[in-house]
Order: sequence, then structure tokens, then C-alpha cells
Amino acid sequence: MKATIPRMDTFRRAKLSALAATALALALPSAASRAEVGEQGKADHVKIELWDGNRAMTLINEQLRFTPRSLDTPGHQQTIDFIKSELAKAGIDDVSTQRWAYRSDDGKSYAMTNIIARLDPSNPRRIIVATHYDSIVRAYADKSNPQGPMPGANNSASGVAVLLETARVLSLLPKPAVGIDMIFFDGEEGPRSLGAGDPNWKALGSPYFAAHLRDFYPNAKPEKAVVFDMVCDRDLKLRPEPSSVASALPEVQKYWRTGQTVAPSAFDTHMISYPISDDHTALAAAGIPSFLVIDFEYEPFFNTTQDTADKCSVGSLEAVGRTTLQYLYLP
Ligand SMILES: [Zn+2]
Repeated sequence: MKATIPRMDTFRRAKLSALAATALALALPSAASRAEVGEQGKADHVKIELWDGNRAMTLINEQLRFTPRSLDTPGHQQTIDFIKSELAKAGIDDVSTQRWAYRSDDGKSYAMTNIIARLDPSNPRRIIVATHYDSIVRAYADKSNPQGPMPGANNSASGVAVLLETARVLSLLPKPAVGIDMIFFDGEEGPRSLGAGDPNWKALGSPYFAAHLRDFYPNAKPEKAVVFDMVCDRDLKLRPEPSSVASALPEVQKYWRTGQTVAPSAFDTHMISYPISDDHTALAAAGIPSFLVIDFEYEPFFNTTQDTADKCSVGSLEAVGRTTLQYLYLP
């Protein structure tokens, strides 16, 4: 993903002060939203405790066995196989892949695969719950080993773990009102990645999916999308991301209000001060209200060989997973 540090010209300042007002609005739940999530923040029929952080941690560790999981590596295909087998274990039978070839600037061709798992596929109302599964090509930010393999426990295995554990728990619960499309995007980091020296970096899987939206949504676009990236940090602090607020303010409010009842210390309504490009970006541009759930403050481990499972915590995974589960059952 890419963070854009805002330049303080007049336009930006005006925009930022508008965003500051939004942060305030996020901090003040309305009476309606309090009723929505209930006194204890729980819709009574949803047993969010079923969402198991230890299982999610195991899913992270299992992905790390395939490192590196970047494009054009054996671990990339092993990760695809692993995701499919976990979806099958969760009893999800409507799983398809979207495949294409991406040709990079240097003429090299990469086999790309998005994985789409549809729950309650006949439901005409749809929500996308997404993440990327490819890891970054090398641990470029590692001062002592910048060519080393990138374990990517947080970036990217944590998002995959959150989706897979959510799929397992959903298979045990009554159907939510909205049908869920879990999408595991390929190539968010790309063949080289921004940090490892590709100034033309862009996410690959989500724009491709957005450009072929009609293949999956012939009649109506999905109602909304939530994207996860870097969500297992021990010291988890999730804050709304500005481009997400611009695209899907009511959903951001709903998600953060839910988070504040499920795991208050992990959810901070003060907005991140710069926009971040990630897989929600292409979905938002395609007209789907979309938001990103990310803890971008992950120093000194960010994109180093130290992005390992011990930097994650079961509690952080449960904060995100249980909030997401609750959110999916909200009206
Ligand atoms: Zn990522």
C-alpha cells in the first residue's frame, strides 16, 4: 500500500479541517447507532466469542511456512491452495478464481489470481470483505537484510487470517441479511513493490476485479466493501483512513462504533492524517462505498524480516475479527 503525506497548500488545509470535523462526528455516536449496536454493543443473536484469535494466529503461522508469498514464487501458489482448502473446510462451496496475466514494465509476465468466495450467493444484496494475500517481494526496509525474504505476518498474512476465521464462524451462525463476497486479492504489493523501488507501483488485483465487476455483479453493484491489511499488531490502534471516510463515512462510523464496544482500546476515532492507497481504492473508484481497516504504525518491523507472528497478538486479531463479525450483522 502507499501512504500519501499531504502537502499543506490551501486546498489541502481546507480539506483537512473538513476531515477534522468528520473525526469529531465519528467520536459522537448518535442515539440511533447506540440502539443499533445495543447496550453492550452486541446484537444478541451473534456469538462473537466464537471468533477465535488462537485459530487466526495459527492461520498466520501456516501462511508463513510458504514464505516468500510474492508473485511468481512457489509460496504464492501454495498460499492460493491453502486459502482454497481453508474455505472448503469452512463449508463454502461457491469459490471461484479470476485469472489473468499481468505484464510488467520490463516485459515479464505474471500469472495473477484473485480468489472469490461467495456466501449466501443467491442473496441479491452483497458486501465485499477483502484483503490481499501476496506478500512483498523482499524485506526492503530491513537495514541489515534488505534482500531477505519478507515473512509478512502482519503485511499480508493477518488479513487472510481474519477473512478465513470469519468464514469459519459465519458457517456456524445464521445468515446475515447481506450476502458476503470474500475476496483474496492478488498483487497488492506488485512484482517489485513501491518500497523496493517501483515508483510506478499500483495494486493489481483489485483494479482488475473492479474493471470486471459485471462478471460477478451483472445486475447491481455490491452495497459496500471493507478491506483489511496489517491488522494483527500487538499494539493495535485502528484509526479511520481519510479516503475511506470520503468513500463510505456511514460504514466507517458503524464499524468504529462497533469496534469501540467490542475492543475499546484498539479503536481510535481520530483519523489518520494522510490517505493510504490499498485495495479499497479501486473499489471506491468503481462506485462501491469502500473502507480500509489498517494499523499503519508498525515500526520498526514494517516490511522487514521482523514482520513475524510474535509481533501479532491473539487479542488484536480478536478485536478486529469480532468487530467485523458484529458489523456484518448490523442493518
Ligand atoms: Zn498489505
